[in-house]
Amino acid sequence: MRRAHRQGRVILVGAGPGDPELLTVKAVKAIGDADVLLVDDLVADEVLQYARSDARIVHVGKRGGCKSTPQEFIERLMIAEARAGHCVVRLKGGDPFVFGRGGEEGEALRDAGIVCEVVSGITAGLAGPAAFGIPLTHRDVCHGAILVTGHAGEGADVGPDWTALAATGLPLVIYMGVSRSEEIRQALLAAGMRADMPVALVQNATRPNQRALITSLAAISGDICKYRIGSPAIMVIGETVRYAYGAVEREAFAENVAASKG
Ligand code: SAH
Repeated sequence: MRRAHRQGRVILVGAGPGDPELLTVKAVKAIGDADVLLVDDLVADEVLQYARSDARIVHVGKRGGCKSTPQEFIERLMIAEARAGHCVVRLKGGDPFVFGRGGEEGEALRDAGIVCEVVSGITAGLAGPAAFGIPLTHRDVCHGAILVTGHAGEGADVGPDWTALAATGLPLVIYMGVSRSEEIRQALLAAGMRADMPVALVQNATRPNQRALITSLAAISGDICKYRIGSPAIMVIGETVRYAYGAVEREAFAENVAASKG
């Protein structure tokens, strides 16, 4: 039986990068309180173990059936459910406010007069490098790091300014960059970044099938293709990648891939 709250509410919850142990206590509580959960593609199934057995779970990513559920539909559904007095949890991979459209959804809810809370999650750009011992900042090599998307996104005609980003000298932590790696590689080389700048590619970070490859700026797109690195993956480009442990160099990786194929 769904409990009707006198006043419905929406909680935008970060589900973290995959490993359910990386959920915050607050996220687990919110998931357990939910009457309705609207779940994005990148949310690991294990996270849903904390939902009530009578909660309504709506997959609004590609697994939901269509290519991806239109944003407008998601917002309308959240608002309708909250108005019906339900506790709605909008569950997003990583952190809702890092490339997660949390800002847009928060705005839609505010306009509709719906109470909205946000529960931070561990974003893939932090968890991915950490899973392979890559520090984002290190006093010896950099005093910051940049989280940036490799994909301009629908409707946006201006992508990231790779020349300006390269000029900062800071490590670049690139989300959604795998399919654009050749474009990114060319732009960074043209901006004067060293061809042997270390690059880490971390795929499926914190999930049982996680893997990471260390390569160089010059070789990224070739290696992505060769070793079939697919989405979701985080790309880290910068000196800080030299501190990686647990990730494998290209040659060792090739052996691993061959061995895993039996
Ligand atoms: N809000 C999410 C990001 C959504 S954008 C967050 O804070 O993590 C989607 C991109 O995130 C993917 O294309 C990929 O670059 C990255 N990503 C998400 N989960 C990941 C994971 N487990 N391993 C590696 N990259 C991941």
